[in-house]
Amino acid sequence: MFHAGRYALADGLVDDVGKPVQAVAPSAVAWRGARGAVPLALSPDGVEKTLADYARAARAAEVIGFDAVEIMASEGYLINQFCSPITNLRDDEWGGSPARRRRFAVAVVDAVRAAVSPGFPVSVRVSGDDLMPGSSTPDDVDALVLALVEAGVDGISVGVGWHESRVPTVQAAVPHAVWVPLAERIAGVVRSSSRPQVAVIASNRLTDLRDAEDVLARGKVDAVALARPFLADPAIVAKSTSGRFDLVTTCIGCNQACIDRSLFGKAVSCLVNPRAARELEFPLLPSGAVRRVAVVGAGPAGLAAALDLARRNNDVTVFEARSSLGGQFDLAASIPGKEDYAGPVRSIRAELDLLGARIVTGTAVGAQDLVGYDRVIVATGVEPRRLDLPGIDLPHVLTYERALRDGVPAGTVAIIGSGGIGVDTAAYLVESGHEAVRAAAFVHANGLPVDAVSASSRPQRRDATRPHPVRPGSEVTILSRSGKFGSGIGPTSRWVAVGRLRDAGVNFLDHVAYEQILPGVLEVSTTSGEIIAVPADTVIVCAGQEPVNLLAASLAAAGIPHEVIGGALDARAVDAVRATTEGLESSRRV
Ligand code: SF4
Repeated sequence: MFHAGRYALADGLVDDVGKPVQAVAPSAVAWRGARGAVPLALSPDGVEKTLADYARAARAAEVIGFDAVEIMASEGYLINQFCSPITNLRDDEWGGSPARRRRFAVAVVDAVRAAVSPGFPVSVRVSGDDLMPGSSTPDDVDALVLALVEAGVDGISVGVGWHESRVPTVQAAVPHAVWVPLAERIAGVVRSSSRPQVAVIASNRLTDLRDAEDVLARGKVDAVALARPFLADPAIVAKSTSGRFDLVTTCIGCNQACIDRSLFGKAVSCLVNPRAARELEFPLLPSGAVRRVAVVGAGPAGLAAALDLARRNNDVTVFEARSSLGGQFDLAASIPGKEDYAGPVRSIRAELDLLGARIVTGTAVGAQDLVGYDRVIVATGVEPRRLDLPGIDLPHVLTYERALRDGVPAGTVAIIGSGGIGVDTAAYLVESGHEAVRAAAFVHANGLPVDAVSASSRPQRRDATRPHPVRPGSEVTILSRSGKFGSGIGPTSRWVAVGRLRDAGVNFLDHVAYEQILPGVLEVSTTSGEIIAVPADTVIVCAGQEPVNLLAASLAAAGIPHEVIGGALDARAVDAVRATTEGLESSRRV
């Protein structure tokens, strides 16, 4: 149960009598995402009414049949706003000192406890660290936890950070389980309290239940809480408890179809599971008649199509020209922090094998190979766009695909193109692919109040990355014709991706035009006409993609029923959410 307080999106909303709705908060303190809207400070009556609303909601939850309620007091929402001196400027009984600021949280628990049956479980999700300069101190957090325990909660779930904090908490770049030490510290507070049996729950960046088991085996917290992994694979528990971890499609931390969409009031789904939240629209019922289907191309779109077809008992063959599956996911998995992109490729392959689908790799097929199929789904993806630029054929000029697959020689690098692939390629050059190294660096760079040793010694991912030499950030220059770096990356991940390059010392050059490539140099001109020679022992071109789709015309000529999806259909704004969604939808048209 959560109340967003000043984070509420009230734009354009009106109440029952047509009056514009205004967000409410402890004090009239706007946040930068509110587009200038200042929340209304709750009156004392408003505080009491809000407490009654919590009580009513909890009662309703019990009556409806929920087994427990959890009160959201973290991530910068209303209760967290009451607790923080940044957002609570009141000097009445609800503010003015740490004890009075946490009164609202305790009052919510009291109201909820009084509204539900004795023994009905109530937990509170607290912020282990707001990650906001000037906000609650660790002592404040401990005192809040003790007050909640005294108030009779059954569980303390430990979240972290506010939406506006400048430390990322849930993005792919955040090392796995890095926030567990926060929950473990709070567990120590609870164990020394008058009710040490209160459950303490760790959360955030736990995507693999093997990692969760290892966290529990450390013996400090009682449980773990996961959300996005259930979007990625609703059968995660069943598959994991039966030992089939290879079949679990893990959340890749992209936020593209979940958090990013929720911020704009759009329906949430999942990039790696496009059926998420659309299960009634796409029920998993066997196809009416078994159809013989060829899926050509095993990138995100093709794999999504093949999986849905095979799950519904069709006779599926996947053809992939490369020796490995995954397409753009396979490339993305080389980027430090994106190693998890290999996971869904592995799990889908495992399930296709289980379902009896045939997978043929290293084989480029033509229309003549596809005669006799009821349907062909063409998901042949994209290839890097070639630039028309003097010097583009010099041997030190690489496509991003070649750079990521084969590595980049030592020396200076200029990256042409500042979209998501350009930013990822820069990260590939300057960051370690070893999560333990990145975890320690993350803790250090963000000055986190967690123990770097415990964070970096946490269980490592099983799928080792492709290690590569890390070069100094100063040797890498990323260039943009516009002023925008990281375009195409979702709003909750872009600032993290670009920020980590800046932290690493990568050079950013914007508003340039590319003039020519010479040995060791990329020449660009500025808007004032100045020519700049950018040192470049290697030039990597990340200037977009073109569709790969020679097959459709020959299929049409041969009269073979087919459909083109994903990047092969439209490479201009190719995005993986669109690709996997098209894969699912194409399966349903077979
Ligand atoms: Fe995870 Fe991305 Fe799916 Fe969200 S969209 S649940 S972050 S894989």
